[in-house]
Amino acid sequence: MYQWYGLYISMAHMKLSYVPKTLAFKRPFSIAHGSRDSTPVVFTRLEHEGVFGYGEASMPPYLAEDHPTVLAFLAKAKILLQQFKPADEIESILSAVDEIEKGNTAAKACIDIALHDLVGKLQNKPCHELLGADKLKTLFTAYTIPMDDPQGIRERIEEAKEYSILKVKLGSINDKKIIEEIRKHTSKNIIVDANEGWADKNTALEMIEWLSGQNVLLVEQPMPKVQVEATAWLSAKSPIPIIADEAVQRLSDIEKAKGVYTGINIKLMKCTGLHEAQKMILLARKYGMKIMIGCMSETSCGVSAAAQLAPLVDWIDLDGPLLLKEDFFDGALFSKGKIILNDLPGIGVKPNTALFQ
Ligand code: MG
Repeated sequence: MYQWYGLYISMAHMKLSYVPKTLAFKRPFSIAHGSRDSTPVVFTRLEHEGVFGYGEASMPPYLAEDHPTVLAFLAKAKILLQQFKPADEIESILSAVDEIEKGNTAAKACIDIALHDLVGKLQNKPCHELLGADKLKTLFTAYTIPMDDPQGIRERIEEAKEYSILKVKLGSINDKKIIEEIRKHTSKNIIVDANEGWADKNTALEMIEWLSGQNVLLVEQPMPKVQVEATAWLSAKSPIPIIADEAVQRLSDIEKAKGVYTGINIKLMKCTGLHEAQKMILLARKYGMKIMIGCMSETSCGVSAAAQLAPLVDWIDLDGPLLLKEDFFDGALFSKGKIILNDLPGIGVKPNTALFQ
């Protein structure tokens, strides 16, 4: 699968640079876990003989990473990466990165993304082609409606008018009111994300049965991830797919999710990047599981990387850049609600501001 990585022959090594930033949201973003108006990210640049690969780490609170942890990890990775060349097996480079320290999945992802971008550029091929994805199989992305008051919900639905699927954040006592408010304005398909907000399986089933009559396609992470038996019971009885998000972070989690969830939501920031994400797609398909690719609050850098795999999955939720005040990259475009991959080499992004001076 990765034989293309071996095609480039050079003795020069790779140099990692990185810069921390804070992304401001257009509007405050509230879910069952809490509310935020910005998110920390770190952008990476991996250089090899004047060719640059770009990456991004975005750190949601629940992954326990922040600027200090990511910068500390990247300082160690920078020394390690100097020992490698782009022609080395990506598996051995990323295994060595993974072994620096446990956890740190977003920090690992920003290295994986930059490495894929760099190697794609050195091969002069887009990553979607190298990863075996047909870019013409573009999917409609969901557009997120976080928790809000009726006025805010109305405004967000208006902002989402180009998008044919809404991702609605539930998991509070206002759930039915939120859906009823949305249904006053639109009959679009909805993906519900409860973010572990329903603690009781009978209440969760009752809610899911009601939602299935409201044009809801699936429910993401209905119950706390520790409630494994209750979730398996719920998935068996649910009329619509139950997708694991918080419960499945890396490849090794899929085994535990089999028979408990109908499918998984893969995010590069949880799973350490494209290399492991591709393995997760293969394993989930082997088990007959549905697959969604999602994102954190990310710029077009991280989202364009994830989009390289979009043609291989069932649903995509890659609206990160749409919710930001400032996107630091140009990359995959959104057109009439679909995400459109370009033919630029690597992950197809360019910084639109001077990030690395
Ligand atoms: Mg989720």
